[in-house]
Amino acid sequence: MKFSQTFIPTLREVPADAVIASHRLMFRSGMIRKLANGLFAYLPLGLRCFRKVEKIIREEMDAIGSLEIKPTVIVPGELWKESGRWTAMGESLLRVKNRTGAEFVVSPTAEEAFTCLVRDELNSYRQLPLSLYQINTKYRDEIRPRYGVMRGREFVMKDAYSFHSDEASLDEHYQAQGRAYRAIFKRCGLTVIPVRADSGAMGGQGSEEFMVESEIGDNTLILCRACDYAANVERAECKSDPGGPSSIAPIPPIPPIEKISTPDVKTIAELCDFLKTDPKHFIKTLIYKAEHIERDRSSAPLPDVREEFFAVAIRGDLDVNEIKLAAVLKAAQVSLAADSDVERITGAPVGFAGPVGLASVPLVMDRTVAEMKDAVAGALEKDVHFKHVSCGRDFNAWLLADVRTVKAGDRCPVCGGELYEKKGNELGHIFKLGRKYTQAMNVHYLDESGVSHIPLMGCYGIGLDRTLASIIEEHHDEAGIVWPAQVAPYQVIIVPISYRGAARECCDMLAARLEAAGVELLLDDRDERAGVKFNDADLIGIPWRIVVGEKNLAAGRVEVKRRAGGETKLLDIEAACRGEFLET
Ligand code: ATP
Ligand code: MG
Repeated sequence: MKFSQTFIPTLREVPADAVIASHRLMFRSGMIRKLANGLFAYLPLGLRCFRKVEKIIREEMDAIGSLEIKPTVIVPGELWKESGRWTAMGESLLRVKNRTGAEFVVSPTAEEAFTCLVRDELNSYRQLPLSLYQINTKYRDEIRPRYGVMRGREFVMKDAYSFHSDEASLDEHYQAQGRAYRAIFKRCGLTVIPVRADSGAMGGQGSEEFMVESEIGDNTLILCRACDYAANVERAECKSDPGGPSSIAPIPPIPPIEKISTPDVKTIAELCDFLKTDPKHFIKTLIYKAEHIERDRSSAPLPDVREEFFAVAIRGDLDVNEIKLAAVLKAAQVSLAADSDVERITGAPVGFAGPVGLASVPLVMDRTVAEMKDAVAGALEKDVHFKHVSCGRDFNAWLLADVRTVKAGDRCPVCGGELYEKKGNELGHIFKLGRKYTQAMNVHYLDESGVSHIPLMGCYGIGLDRTLASIIEEHHDEAGIVWPAQVAPYQVIIVPISYRGAARECCDMLAARLEAAGVELLLDDRDERAGVKFNDADLIGIPWRIVVGEKNLAAGRVEVKRRAGGETKLLDIEAACRGEFLET
């Protein structure tokens, strides 16, 4: 392909909002252009790379027996109402109406569409397991699209959905998907960190995310220095650590609970100063509001409360992990209650909540509090706290759960090693959904004896745009992109110092011979200064550059340079035509 005949509008300038390397380089190399916030067009060069990633993903999906289909992007709103996500997805779901007023969704993901398809076709256990996938456009009305195609509004996802008659079959396919993901990312030249994304509450390894380390990562990863434990902080667990008063063993009989006056003391820091002690000796009590609780799946029977408020008690030096809390409450989301609700529920101004005598809402207690035998806590009264508070003696929990946010320095739940943090970006996610959708959407099959069952389901997604951008994040230098060969738009770029005379003839011959041998190449035939062409070649990042200049040509040679590493060598024209350099 001749440079002049394709469309690679390279740029020196970068847009002000391009703060990360991949965004800058995709823009400057003419891979993408922005149409509007979160909406990007891929130009020929970008599309070539995109197709390479797509091919790798398709090959690995096909290899594990997942079957590609091409469903629609626009899906009837009815299906989303059936699953309950018409409302649960909130504002990120793009809803549209057609001329008759019928409601549709522009797919942000496709559990509903695939479940509906399978519902209509599934009769017998003999049809299971069944794994289907698509590589298709998605739309999410992201609040803050950013970092170019890393977080766009429209993007392409490979999403697979599998259906099974038993756990063993689901697990087998889930593992196969996990292996396929590892293979995909390896072939793309990416270093991924697979992390657990399941909550302990749900049991087992039911969800794994594939992360790349990234300074601008939206996820915090918790990793162990001593073993391979890796988890998203949203779900990370840790060993209980010594810290509370119970560690100052042996504890003499604890004096009875006692009220203390704490005028104008509201925060834990102020209380620490006032009592000259440590936050680890406080029971922090927070009032949360939970939304969309799935009552029938609740792990503990819910008491009869009119409003869905909960108190959460946790050791004073720790933070509540709202995602873990939402998971144990089986709620779509939880948020801190408004001050007015806190005052109504605790009967005191904000800052004096405590677990003792709090009868108006159920108390969720973090495991750390169970160990606290001589603690300080709010007394549900303005300017008053309790001391000598003892869990079990002075109050009890409605639900004991692990709801703490794990942080660097905590202990690994597997081996006890020290945990540390990294920022990461999610490229892919595999998930055992169980019967969440098949139940809500009434999917059935008949077993050998004609008994009806609801199948189990798994889902598996990879973002292509984000994967592509992440490859550039991992493979670039000052001058531009350094494509790994498997995903490079072309393998070779031929750059004549000047595309005239004998140099031109040599370039044309090289191009013809290499192309005939199946090498994808770009011939820079533009009437530009050599420096401009060299800079563009570095920017575009094609793995091999052949420079055809008069001096070397006179000696029957061309200069071959490897983009990664930058080493150059002189090669006989004939050897270059045979592509011998490609083998090294
Ligand atoms: P995130 O937490 O980053 O918003 P997610 O967990 O909502 O992602 P999934 O629903 O698991 O994403 O989607 C699977 C994959 O789709 C992600 O791993 C990511 O690669 C890709 N993806 C999701 N949202 C976007 C987006 N706005 N732009 C580009 N790719 C995306
Ligand atoms: Mg995800």
